[in-house]
Amino acid sequence: MAARLVILDCDLTLWDHHNVSELSLPFVRVDDQTVQDAQGVRVRLRPGARELLVGLRQRGVLVSVATWNHPEPVFAIFDLLDLTSFFVLPKVEAHPHKDRTIGTTLRELARDGVPLRPDEVIFVDDKPMHLTQVRQALGPIQTLQVGVDVTDLRDVLAHISGSDSPARA
Ligand SMILES: [Mg+2]
Repeated sequence: MAARLVILDCDLTLWDHHNVSELSLPFVRVDDQTVQDAQGVRVRLRPGARELLVGLRQRGVLVSVATWNHPEPVFAIFDLLDLTSFFVLPKVEAHPHKDRTIGTTLRELARDGVPLRPDEVIFVDDKPMHLTQVRQALGPIQTLQVGVDVTDLRDVLAHISGSDSPARA
């Protein structure tokens, strides 16, 4: 089945920092991949991140976010790196229960006229705990672990096409 929604973690998935909630606002933009906090700590998008977002948009696949963080630093980075427009219903919540977070996202999408089956959803995270938790609670969502199943985030694109998609070389 072709994926219609990709949900991304942020810390150590979309970017290289392990916990942006511990950083100090305000952030400034360094370049189109990098921001810096008030203490000079840098956060850089992981390899292939922007290319993944552009590739998913080109394929008509929705993208959302499920991250265990405080909202302010995450949305500040999205804004500074011009990422905000890529995401539908991004969820930044200060708890580790991503099954609840993603359950809410799927209910909201259904309410908005986009009902999705679990097998139409891909969840990408660096922590196996979250991947397992989401599969156990929500069913056969395809889960990809950063550093194991994907290295460059563009690798996610290889997992989105189902048998009903045009064949690609
Ligand atoms: Mg993470």
